[in-house]
Amino acid sequence: MTLAATTPVVREHPIDPQQIDPRALKILRQLDEAGFEAYLVGGCIRDLLLGKQPKDFDIATNARPEQIASIFRNCRLIGRRFRLAHIHFGRYIIEVATFRAPPEREARTDSYGSVLEDNHYGTLEDDVVRRDFTINALYYDSKNDEIRDYVGALDDINRRIIRIIGDPVARYTEDPVRMLRAARFSAKLNMPLEADTEAAIVACRDNLRAVPAARLFDEVQKLFMSGYGQTCFDVLQQHGLFEALFPDAEKTIHYPHAAYAQYAKNMMRIALANTDERIAADKPVTIAFLLAAILWPVYQLQYRGLLKERDNWHSAMHEAIDLVHIAASERVAIPVRLRGMIREIWALQARLEQAARGNIRKMHSVLAHPRFRAAYDFLLVRQGAGEDLADLVELWTALQQDPDTAADVEQYRAEQSEDEESAAAPRKRRSRNSNRRKKRD
Ligand code: ATP
Ligand code: MG
Repeated sequence: MTLAATTPVVREHPIDPQQIDPRALKILRQLDEAGFEAYLVGGCIRDLLLGKQPKDFDIATNARPEQIASIFRNCRLIGRRFRLAHIHFGRYIIEVATFRAPPEREARTDSYGSVLEDNHYGTLEDDVVRRDFTINALYYDSKNDEIRDYVGALDDINRRIIRIIGDPVARYTEDPVRMLRAARFSAKLNMPLEADTEAAIVACRDNLRAVPAARLFDEVQKLFMSGYGQTCFDVLQQHGLFEALFPDAEKTIHYPHAAYAQYAKNMMRIALANTDERIAADKPVTIAFLLAAILWPVYQLQYRGLLKERDNWHSAMHEAIDLVHIAASERVAIPVRLRGMIREIWALQARLEQAARGNIRKMHSVLAHPRFRAAYDFLLVRQGAGEDLADLVELWTALQQDPDTAADVEQYRAEQSEDEESAAAPRKRRSRNSNRRKKRD
């Protein structure tokens, strides 16, 4: 990695200090008054230059964590792998990180070469080269209203390209999560990966196995719950990275039976599209719903397999759910609470089918289940993915809007069986409010 030979200081830039959070500006001022260097860095500068609203404002400084803590009363030090200062403003947090040097040769690494501990402090120039992508390595000096660009980041922003800083294989080996971040930024910013940045992923993606499953869960949340999940899914697929997160789900997408493979992919894409739409509309979302959809095709295969060996479908169902959760969590640690929600959504799919054949009481008890709405929405995803569920969807749509319909349904069934018994003349089909299907809200 060669640092740009030209001066890194850029005075002509389109950032208006009014666009910057005043609390961040205040922190920069206080650090400066205490005699330290401090800059806004990373995603906030990138997003402002790309005309997007930054998610958060991160600060980099030459002050050590303890020194930061001594300046700000509302400061808490966090992190082990990276020691960081969090400055709290009620629920809002601004992260202040000390300039870091690249990991040393003798840094503690795991058997795959991932760096386990990285608390070597350095200069601004050191800090630049340990950042992940050029577009994330711009520093804004508020005192002089200048941007510092050491790595040709502004050119890459203008060319709209995502380029890793340094040797791609070395940087991905150091921290394999950077491959997922590359995919996420590519999806979020609609910018392609630079050729070497992309090519090295093939050689390095297996290293993701070494990343702790809890960290991968955090990344999955960022990938799929930030409003552009469907695009992230496509970009991950394109680079063979989805497999690193959900190996069994990936197999269902390439299942030998083409129709099932298509169904599996549809499940995932439709659920992701739903989530993106809900985020755009400011509606509540849960990752449990998404994970339930991603893992559903795996669960279905597992369940059908077990059903051949068991006579009890209920125990086969719960055993299949357990097996799917155990296997999935080897890569992506799904918290227990979410596993519970996924189990409920899946178990309710069976109850939606059974209660539809049952009596009013059964239908009402399913309607009253706290997870009914999610289970109903999940049924719609299954239908959208290609399952023939029109009657079931029609029934639950009507029941949900008007639970009294249950009485109609029961009566209709009774009449139907009488008709069958007496083999009577052709009967008229009772309407079940088929046009009242409502979107999730
Ligand atoms: P977002 O808009 O998603 O918050 P961001 O660029 O701010 O994007 P963060 O995860 O908040 O991403 O990280 C802040 C900055 O820290 C990044 O811009 C990057 O410079 C640096 N960074 C974060 N993770 C890594 C990593 N794994 N390796 C190297 N640098 C990283
Ligand atoms: Mg950020």
